[in-house]
Amino acid sequence: MSAPPSLAAPDDAGSWTWQMRHRIRSAEDLARYVDPIEDEVRAIEALGERFHFVITPYYAGLMDPVDPECPIRRQVVPRSVEAADPAGLADPLDEVAHSPVKNVIRVYPDRIAFCVNNECALYCRFCLRKRMVGEPEWAMKKRELALALDWIRRTPEIRDVLLTGGDPLVFSDERLDWLLGELRAIPHVEIVRLGTRLPVTLPQRITEDLCRMLERHHPLWVNTHFNHPKELTAEAALACDRLTRAGIPVGNQSVLMRGINDDVATMKALCEGLVRMRVRPYYCYQAQLLEGTAHFRVPIEEGIALFRAMRGRTSGFAIPLYVLDTPYGKVPLTHPYVRGRDGDHVEVESFDGRTWRELNPSR
Ligand code: SF4
Repeated sequence: MSAPPSLAAPDDAGSWTWQMRHRIRSAEDLARYVDPIEDEVRAIEALGERFHFVITPYYAGLMDPVDPECPIRRQVVPRSVEAADPAGLADPLDEVAHSPVKNVIRVYPDRIAFCVNNECALYCRFCLRKRMVGEPEWAMKKRELALALDWIRRTPEIRDVLLTGGDPLVFSDERLDWLLGELRAIPHVEIVRLGTRLPVTLPQRITEDLCRMLERHHPLWVNTHFNHPKELTAEAALACDRLTRAGIPVGNQSVLMRGINDDVATMKALCEGLVRMRVRPYYCYQAQLLEGTAHFRVPIEEGIALFRAMRGRTSGFAIPLYVLDTPYGKVPLTHPYVRGRDGDHVEVESFDGRTWRELNPSR
């Protein structure tokens, strides 16, 4: 990858505020970047209201203008196939039932997902929180944020807070600084994580000023969401570099999606490209049983085979853990490398299918 350029000054296309102001919201806007096919135009009209159709100019610039199957295009442009998903659910993880207070989701005893913002820079067709992102009723007023912060203060088991949404980095630096300061002041909150797709969809947001502010709130971790090697641009590399230089470990959580990243060559290129950017591939999620996403789902056996094929053929830390998220928490989906105990030995399978017998201590 070539050296990243410096991001341009505010008030031009290189500033994140310009990008936010000039987002694509209609088929006519989209036609400035690609030749939309009839199905896309019809789906934008029919489905763009059901789940918001909004794209940043930067991300639209990554689309193939003539190929409707472009993996960037398919992530954000509606298609009529979304309407045909009888099994899809609005809230497959039952997050509402796990909320002790508005927009706080608690599945595990010691950590929470705190959906501080209902807004994103763009809206992904596979979004797990389709039911709430972009919807005004899920916005958090300052009074509601204060109520959630109060709940965290009164719940001493919570040691790890994930700020998510929507996207917390769509907040202004000032609002985020205030929120992080409130969380840091709670003695039992040991770490704060930011879940953000902006290094992928709006890397201009990762400014030097933002990183200087974030540095004041360590220990902070960031998890971002690259799905395809085409997203690994010079701008995205610069955004991740700024975060890591600010001392923030950056991990990636992708979603396994049919026709986007469900082949070994693409997933390997994605993960190796992330590692070159010092971003650790952390999780790859099985696509949830989420409304309007049947066309993205891959059989779990195929996902397991894909990650098994990567084992031994790239650096171990370039292989994310393939997981299924459930209302009971995340479940690792892995090939059974341990075949079982045989007397004093355990039999295991190597990456290339050979059997190894290891003397196994017994208690
Ligand atoms: S950026 Fe994340 S939260 Fe926002 S629409 Fe995409 S997947 Fe959903």
